[in-house]
Amino acid sequence: MSIAETETGTPAWRLLLGYVRPHRRSLLAGAVLSLVTGATGLMLPLVARGLIDDLAHDRAITGALLAMSALVVTNAAVGALGSYVLRRTAESVVLGARRSLSSYLLRLRITAVDRTEPGDLMARITSDTTLLRTVTTESLVGLGTGGLTLVATIVMMGLVDPVLLGVTVAVIAGAGAVIGTIAPRINKASKQAQQAVGVMGAALERVLGALRTVKASGAEHREERALHEAAEESWRQSVRAAKWSAVAGNTAGLAIQIAFLTVLAVGGARVATGAVDVATLVAFLLYVFFLISPLQEVIGAVAQYQTGSAALARIQEALSLPAEPPVRSAPLPSAGEPPASVAFRDVRFRYADDLPHVHHGVTFEVPARGMTAFVGPSGAGKTTVFSLIERFYDPESGEIALDGRNVAEWELPRLRAAIGYVEQDAPVLSGSLRDNLLLGNPEADDDALARVLKTTRLDGLVARLPAGLDTLVGHRGTKLSGGERQRVAIARALLRRPRLLLLDEATSQLDAVNEAALRDTVADVARTTTVLVVAHRLSTVTMADRIVVMDAGRVRAVGTHRELVTADPLYAELAATQFLAAAD
Ligand code: ADP
Ligand code: MG
Repeated sequence: MSIAETETGTPAWRLLLGYVRPHRRSLLAGAVLSLVTGATGLMLPLVARGLIDDLAHDRAITGALLAMSALVVTNAAVGALGSYVLRRTAESVVLGARRSLSSYLLRLRITAVDRTEPGDLMARITSDTTLLRTVTTESLVGLGTGGLTLVATIVMMGLVDPVLLGVTVAVIAGAGAVIGTIAPRINKASKQAQQAVGVMGAALERVLGALRTVKASGAEHREERALHEAAEESWRQSVRAAKWSAVAGNTAGLAIQIAFLTVLAVGGARVATGAVDVATLVAFLLYVFFLISPLQEVIGAVAQYQTGSAALARIQEALSLPAEPPVRSAPLPSAGEPPASVAFRDVRFRYADDLPHVHHGVTFEVPARGMTAFVGPSGAGKTTVFSLIERFYDPESGEIALDGRNVAEWELPRLRAAIGYVEQDAPVLSGSLRDNLLLGNPEADDDALARVLKTTRLDGLVARLPAGLDTLVGHRGTKLSGGERQRVAIARALLRRPRLLLLDEATSQLDAVNEAALRDTVADVARTTTVLVVAHRLSTVTMADRIVVMDAGRVRAVGTHRELVTADPLYAELAATQFLAAAD
């Protein structure tokens, strides 16, 4: 299932109102300023009529000229202030959306992350939110002020000459009908254009995340094609949206021109019969001219809303992905806290409803303190055991308990605070070495840091680096070796003083010397902490207090190395081939 198939339910405008609500005062202020701008503009034809009257009757025009100048200056000043206030409000709406989306992103369940492309999510936060800016100013405000100005203009026209007004409204209603059929096309094209931006984000993420592999595989050309294709698709759809927007925009222009000509003809006839005078006709024609801007504003609002609601729908999809409850970070265990026990009881689990089961009733018990090794062929479900303990996923049935209490009943931050997890691929984030080490415990003091650096044998590395702990490690730690990355990950986990250490041993990351040192460290940690280690080396396995042998989503046997070599044929085989090969 892709993110685009997520059920959203609530309509887009609801979401927009949610983002706009905190800024309703400044939005209103901006709208009022726009209205004042529009009103001062509306006064102009009246003053112009007075001016023509004065001229016709040989009166002085100084007063009318002064009034006109005052109107023009006010119009410009209020107009500038209004557009600043509106733009500022719109930026605040974008900010609000970006904040809520980024917070939500950090809370996403891992199941949601599994089925989305990070680049696509990124496009939703960066690009789609940007579109809310125009939706807020042009759509909401345009509809409000443009609509009001339109109504006010029409009222004024009615006061000047109801007959000519009837002619004008008929023409404009025709234009409205045309635009009604165009709006959905703009919406569809906009959504597809934004989708293509998402696809491009995903493709970029894929390439930049593995640029070395792409280059080494000589695949630049093919990847380039995929990137270009996504960019071109966005272009195609944006052009389509632009085409329909242009048609809509010019329908307004055309309607006004037709109205102008019709009014001129009908009005001319009325002047000839003496029903109205020339000054009135001129004033009315000026009003027709003045209809252009509010009419275009309203039509622009309709078109913009189509683009905006497409973006809103994509934002809403992201906000509908399954997420964990909002968290405060929980305090880490203090130094004296006892180690945790772990138990799996008949755990069945699969990663998604349409995937096969990975655990078919896994059962084992690990007492507090000591070291337990998980061994078994690749794909047996060992890493999944750790993911379930961390509650990245929930089992379909069965129970997982920490300290005898179901992990589902733990407050999530507290559960995770008790655990130090070293993942198999030892992830390192871009930033400094210090950032990476303190990620799980920013409060760790220098003594603790120095101790951990020593036990993980990172002290030598830090001493060698010119910038020491402040050395930048590059995107995903590419400036570190695989072994160094793993030691950083272990140091990071140890700094959390975990009550339970989960160590997913990488198969061949550590050299012999460092491996021996870490083995001693882990043995040391296991004296005061519960250590679960997915082990690939005989040296690690033989050190364990108990070994859990897993195969194809089941626990085959539990025992010590000595017991299992004779009792379990799979273990004996693993010990003879895989472990021995990796041992030194
Ligand atoms: P092990 O660590 O023993 O090698 P894992 O627990 O990592 O095995 O994986 C067990 C099975 O689950 C494998 O078949 C793997 O392909 C599958 N698997 C692991 N992670 C995911 C995931 N996020 N989504 C779907 N399937 C997964
Ligand atoms: Mg694994």
